[in-house]
Formats: sequence, structure tokens, C-alpha cells
Amino acid sequence: MSAVVPRVSKHRAAFGRRLNPPLPQTVRTLWVVFGDQLDPRFSVFRKHFDKAHDAVLMAEVDEESRHVASHVQRTTLFLSAMRHYAESLSARDVRVRYVTLDNADNTQSLDGEVRRAVGELRPERLAVIRPGEWRIVTMVEAWRESLQLPLTMHEDPHFLTTPAEFGEWATGRRTMVMEHFYRVMRRRLEILIAPDGGPEGGRWNFDADNRKGYKGDRDTLPPRVRHEPDDITRDVMAMVRERLGDLPGRLDDFNWPVTREQALAELRDFITHRLAHFGDYQDAMVVGRPWMYHSLLSAPMNLKLLDPREIVTLAVEAYRRGVAPLNAVEGFVRQIIGWREFIRGVYWHEGAGYGARNALGQTHSLPSMYWTGTSEMQCMRESLGEVLSNGFGHHIQRLMVTGNFAMMAGVHPREISDWYLGMYVDAIDWASLPNTLGMSQHADGGVVGTKPYAASGRYIDRQGDYCTGCRFSPGVRLGDDACPFTTFYWDFLLRHRATFARNHRMAMPLKNLDAMSDQERTAIAARANAVRDSLGMRPMAAPTSP
Ligand code: SF4
Repeated sequence: MSAVVPRVSKHRAAFGRRLNPPLPQTVRTLWVVFGDQLDPRFSVFRKHFDKAHDAVLMAEVDEESRHVASHVQRTTLFLSAMRHYAESLSARDVRVRYVTLDNADNTQSLDGEVRRAVGELRPERLAVIRPGEWRIVTMVEAWRESLQLPLTMHEDPHFLTTPAEFGEWATGRRTMVMEHFYRVMRRRLEILIAPDGGPEGGRWNFDADNRKGYKGDRDTLPPRVRHEPDDITRDVMAMVRERLGDLPGRLDDFNWPVTREQALAELRDFITHRLAHFGDYQDAMVVGRPWMYHSLLSAPMNLKLLDPREIVTLAVEAYRRGVAPLNAVEGFVRQIIGWREFIRGVYWHEGAGYGARNALGQTHSLPSMYWTGTSEMQCMRESLGEVLSNGFGHHIQRLMVTGNFAMMAGVHPREISDWYLGMYVDAIDWASLPNTLGMSQHADGGVVGTKPYAASGRYIDRQGDYCTGCRFSPGVRLGDDACPFTTFYWDFLLRHRATFARNHRMAMPLKNLDAMSDQERTAIAARANAVRDSLGMRPMAAPTSP
């Protein structure tokens, strides 16, 4: 607990009064609402909440910003959105016990705040909506016994599939393929289905038309919608600076939607200005242009300020009205009803031990550049710098730059997974972990992706202008000008050749590797270790010959 006496603004004091009205004499059910459960439709409450006898507990605690180091914008987003949500509950006569981070009695852990509330309010039972993280589920389950209270865990109606439904689909399959799951979802939800029952446009997937490198005018890219911070957000920003200023990232440019209205403005902006080109440029990377044509809806959606159904409906309508082409709309819809639901299904299906997997046996620490953004590599400098400034990077930066580099350099999957969880405003464990540990690090041995997403500098060069002006050359694998991605790519294949020998999707790169001379392989391993050394990483033992 800080010894500093916090300055309390007029608004902050008013917020506290509004959010802590006298609670009922006896609380029948105490509902614990977590920071990523800000459903504006109050779906679960409408069905199960008794205003006369029940109360809601919401708590801001240090532990949630520090169990992995959380970007100051991520913390600000959560706390400001929570305060706005608590006010909206209060306005509907829902009694809310809201504990601010700077409350003198705050125990600074969710567990501690639930125990404190139970001690003071003596509820007959507890209720929660399924949390987004195994860590929290384990904590919640323990309350039944340690607090001697019945507890109900409601499924989260925000999602399109429950963990049980996903489990039914997954059970008995040799591999879980997202594309198969996606087709089931398209049919089940009747989205982009032609009158004959087949897929709209004759294909389920239009990725062959997508993923172009960006060759357009960088100055005509659409600007971001601006969300001016209100009193609540300004108070949270001041509090975060005061109490959590040692956490990573910069707060100055905070511009994330913290209310339903702001989230809807972001959604309308995407449909009107970005969706039409989303497919074409979803994998493009341009210096100084962090937003491109991405939706920027993952953060408000993961906080539940937006519902996936309304987003998909508007995107499909845009296609029907001729505002956006099918390749863009199908690609976007696939992200929402396919990939997002699939990833969440994998998270719960694979169990609490999923986060400990390390199929490639990686052991290295994350290089310090991930925290400072300082790098000679222009692609890393841009991608890391944007994360530090905005708490955000688009998916191809995450997968093919920062994630690709960590995997090929040999970073332990838990280290990079924790970095992703803490540094991105949209990161909740159910979404972040399978995307990072599974897809980007291949640490689950192929559950999420059937091959590792390893790529040389040539891939990054194709997708935009990062390599222009970089001091390294993307096509060069040896020597002082060698692109570290390209050196690491071959070093990665050398080190893991045996692991991927039977993976048919890796046949071509391994064939190229096998055509190299022993002398060149030795030189690549040495150059890779020189790069590790320059990044403060330990060297690796030379790989054994195939
Ligand atoms: Fe990145 Fe290599 Fe391109 Fe430089 S040359 S920007 S290090 S991929």
C-alpha cells in the first residue's frame, strides 16, 4: 500500500458516494462482477438478479495489474470501463459495492475483496459469470469451501458457443481445425449462407483474395475515431500515474472506448471507413501507421461492451448494401464467429495446464527490447514502439514480428505469453493464451496451428515497408547485414528439424535446409548466437546435423 495520501478530485469523491449506497440489511446473493464482464444488456442480471435483496461487488485491485506487468493503458481501460459500468448499474437501481484502487481498506486482491465483502455483508450465496481465466476460475471455485457458501457460475451469454458445446464438437477429433469449426458456425448461425445452403459466393473462405502487401498512399489511411476522456477516465488516468506509474507503456495517447456509446462509435467507424479494405490489407505493415484497416473492436468486445452478434450483423449488412466486398466481410466474420470462438473453445477444452506447455523446449528470457522498444530492427522497433505507445498491435505484427521473433530466438513460451497478456489492451487470458502460446509459439505442439508460424525477413519485406531503410537486408542470412529474422529462421529449422520431419507442411523449408552445406549450417548457428548475444540472450548449443 502506498504511503502517499491520494489527492481526491471532486468527481472522484462523487463517484465513490454514488457507487457505495447503503446496501440491503441482508444480502441474499452477492454477485462478483469482473472487469471484463461489462455487458450493457445486463443479460444475466435481467434473468437472475433480485434488486431488493442482491448486490454487486466490483473491485479494482493492484494484483490484477501486477500478476503479469500490465500496460498502463490496459489498466486504465479496465478501470475506467468498470467505473462507467458500475454507474450504469447504479442508475438501474442495482446496488453496487465498488472498491476503488485507492480505497484505504482495499486488500488489493480479488480474493481479499470478496472475503472482506462476505465478512461485512454476510450474503447467503455467491454468484459469478464464468470468468475469462483459469486462474480466476480456480480462485472462485475455492470460495465454495473456504467461505462455506453456495456459489453459482453462470455461463457467459456474450459468446456464441459454450465450453460444453465446443467440447462436444472437439471430442473424438484427431485434430481441431478452425476451418471445420467455422463452417459449422456459419451453418448454425446462418451467416453468409446462399439460398442453396452453400456458402455465399461459392467459397467458405476468401483468403486467397486477401493479405496483400500495402502499396497505397499511406496518407489516405483512415484516421482513428477520437474518444475524449471524460471526468471518470481522467481520474483513473491520474490514479494510474500515481499508483501504477512503474508499469510498462505510455499513457499520454489513451484513446480506447470505455463506454457502450464510445464502443458503438468505434464500430460505426469501422463499418464505414475500414471494413471495405480489411481483407485486402489485414496482413499489411506500414511504418508509422498502427491502425491500417483493422477494426480495433477486440478490446470493447472482450470487455463485453459490444456483442459479437451485432458486429457480424452490421458487417453482413454492409456487404448486402454493396458497401464492402465479400472477401473483406467473410474474412472479418470468420475472425468473430470462427477464430474468436474457436480460440476460446480451445482454452477451456485443453484445461488449466495448457499455459504450462512448452513443446519446443524453449528456455530463454524475453530480451529487454520488448519492454523498451529499442532495436536496430525497424520491424521490431515499430511493432514494439506501437505497443508501448498504444497498448495495441495488429494481428500480423503480433504473429509475424514480435511472436515470430520470440519463437525463433528461443524465448520460453510462458515469458512471451505473459508479455502479450499484460501489454495489449484487448488481452484476456482465454483469448491471449491460445493465440500466443498455441498459434504464435507452437508451444502446444500443434493444437491451434498445424505448423509453426516461423518466417524470414522476406515475408516481412513483402507485407509493407518495414524493411525499407532498415540497416539489415531481409534476404541475407549471414554477415553483418544479415536480417536477424532470416538468420533465426534457418537456425530455428536447424534446431527443430527432427520435430518437424514428419509435418508435411514443413516439407519444403526442410528440403531447402537439407540442401545447405555443413559449413553454412555452422555459420548460421554462430550468427544466430551473435544476434542473441547482441540482445543480451544466452547462446544456444550448436544443433546436431540432420
Ligand atoms: Fe525486420 Fe529484417 Fe526487414 Fe529489418 S530487414 S525490418 S530486421 S525483417
